[in-house]
Amino acid sequence: MEQIYTIPVNEAFEKCIETKECPFCQLEDELESNEIDLILGASMMEPDVRKKTNKMGFCRSHYKIMFTAAKKLPLALILESHLSEVCDMMPAPGILPAVSGKSAAKKLSEVSSTCYVCSRMEYNFSRMLDTAAYLWETDEDFRRKCKKQQGYCVPHTARFISAAKDRMKSKRFGEFYTALYSVEKKHIEGISDKLSRFVKSFDYRYANVPVDDAKDAVEKTVALISGKKPK
Ligand SMILES: [Zn+2]
Ligand SMILES: [Zn+2]
Repeated sequence: MEQIYTIPVNEAFEKCIETKECPFCQLEDELESNEIDLILGASMMEPDVRKKTNKMGFCRSHYKIMFTAAKKLPLALILESHLSEVCDMMPAPGILPAVSGKSAAKKLSEVSSTCYVCSRMEYNFSRMLDTAAYLWETDEDFRRKCKKQQGYCVPHTARFISAAKDRMKSKRFGEFYTALYSVEKKHIEGISDKLSRFVKSFDYRYANVPVDDAKDAVEKTVALISGKKPK
């Protein structure tokens, strides 16, 4: 187990007891802003990094974040060399234009589906998930933190369960799932109740149902199901 991940994982789980957010979303947000800072800063001119960004490019959401980061020159330099590689991905028709066309479609489709930031985040995030499962198995204090969580978003619930399943023997995994279930089921039911009260607030027949704490029900539901707050 890589020790470097235990500190950020523990810190995120500690923090989310207070914030009541999904601790894995918290970790993902931290990874994302670190990667964006690096790519537009310290590692922008590193040849190894540039080689990868030239080949992979970025996804739509990370272009958007970088574009709004107000660092147009670093972004322009990254784009300049990436675009030159993209240009080479489209071969001249030559004597077999159908073959060239097929090759262009394949290469352009590949480059459109890869993102340097996403791939770096995923590399670190999957190790953080393993670390969380490892900590759950070995650290009483971490299990206590898990018990105190408000809950996890649906995509991260799935990944936490899978990470635990990959690592734990059947009996231990059963204990893990039982503990996670009691936290997560309550969380989903709580948001579901909030959402119903929000819907009822539009109906005069329920005029006396309290809705004050249900105002953010749609936002909370989207964050729960998709793992992302609507922006
Ligand atoms: Zn999450
Ligand atoms: Zn991305």
